[in-house]
Amino acid sequence: MPAAPQRPRGLKDILPAEQPYWVVMTRAAEAMAVGAGYQRIDTPIFEATELFVRTVGETSDVVTKEMYTFLDRGGRSMTLRPEGTAPVVRAYFDAAMNNGPQPVRLYYLGPFFRYDRPQAGRFRQFHQFGLEAIGDAGAGLDVEVITLGWRWYGALGLRGVSLQVNSIGDAECRPRYRDALRQYFRPYLDSLPADDRARFERNPLRLLDSKDPQSMSLLEAAPRSLDFLCEPCRAAFAQVQAGLGRAGIPFAVNPHLVRGLDYYTRTAFEYWHESLSGAQNSLGGGGRYDGLAEDLGYRPTPAVGFALGLDRTEGILQAQESAPAIYALAVEPSALEGMKALAEQIRERGLAVIADVSDAQLDVKLRRADRMRAALVLLVGLPEDGTECVSIRDMKARAQQQVKRGELHDRVRGMLAAHAAVPG
Ligand code: AMP
Repeated sequence: MPAAPQRPRGLKDILPAEQPYWVVMTRAAEAMAVGAGYQRIDTPIFEATELFVRTVGETSDVVTKEMYTFLDRGGRSMTLRPEGTAPVVRAYFDAAMNNGPQPVRLYYLGPFFRYDRPQAGRFRQFHQFGLEAIGDAGAGLDVEVITLGWRWYGALGLRGVSLQVNSIGDAECRPRYRDALRQYFRPYLDSLPADDRARFERNPLRLLDSKDPQSMSLLEAAPRSLDFLCEPCRAAFAQVQAGLGRAGIPFAVNPHLVRGLDYYTRTAFEYWHESLSGAQNSLGGGGRYDGLAEDLGYRPTPAVGFALGLDRTEGILQAQESAPAIYALAVEPSALEGMKALAEQIRERGLAVIADVSDAQLDVKLRRADRMRAALVLLVGLPEDGTECVSIRDMKARAQQQVKRGELHDRVRGMLAAHAAVPG
């Protein structure tokens, strides 16, 4: 028999047990984005290769090495989208959104593709939630976008997230910073790997993105973009920090944070998680990209946005929380029908319930609920006098309480909210 086909390296299935987290993440994203006036946009899964090559500048760059590029039957070069911003900007001009009221607020959710070396937290198909606010240069919009990302992690109940912000200046002040970086790195040039030497020549800001240990150790003492900002960039960065302060969002100014590509200007930010380390510590990031439209061949148009990875966030949610599911079981066989009716009622009111309809022993059913990582277990009993009684067990807190039928639904909702995720 021929060997069964293998799942390609770097790809994964999103299995049923993981789906509740995806439901929670996408619903929170939609609620957050729509609530702030962002409209959904879906761009194609692949685009003309040219669109992405223009955003990275040089075809020999590491970014283009990560692209899934193929020739279609007409001999045209196409690429599976490695990121969402360039396609959204293309669509903005294609649909003449630049002629309407500005800024245009857009969001997207979907899969992206990069031929990365597969490792923990890095997949060849991964998913992002992105926001792009196009057509306004004001720092107030940077604050809006950064705040929405922060609130999204909050809505998911994700703990341990930190916000890192920086400003990388603009076309006015960046050349001076670039020169300073070249001057700093020049004496070490021979000890850098080939990729980083190429970066030194073409765009030394990209050295700050380097994953090479030698380059990274040199970064500690490297010049900082904040020391080179021109007056308008300095004022904009002060506005961003004041705005975040007013919104009550804690942040750290991180002078090593950059977006290496030329079209990025001023604000750069990332959301980090304490459980992630090394090159994969970022849950998501974004920045202002006032130069991108022009690099793509359109009229210069300021914009700001973010892309937040869903795959890593899901991993953390899974490790952090019990699955946001309710598991219902009958304490004795006589209560089975009553339990099923109860599960049905809860489902009708919009919550997901798994009903254990087996005739297994109580302890077996409880172990199943535990293995499914249910947040709450409903235990339905029928004591001697025939009146149905229901208890709720909070699996994380290991606490159990009896509740009246009339109060059951509100109690369940309240307890699930404490688990920071209400699916269904
Ligand atoms: P980027 O578009 O490179 O700024 O990435 C934004 C976020 O998307 C990262 O912080 C990750 O959470 C996620 N991400 C990027 N590349 C991958 C990948 N290969 N696998 C999984 N998640 C990724």
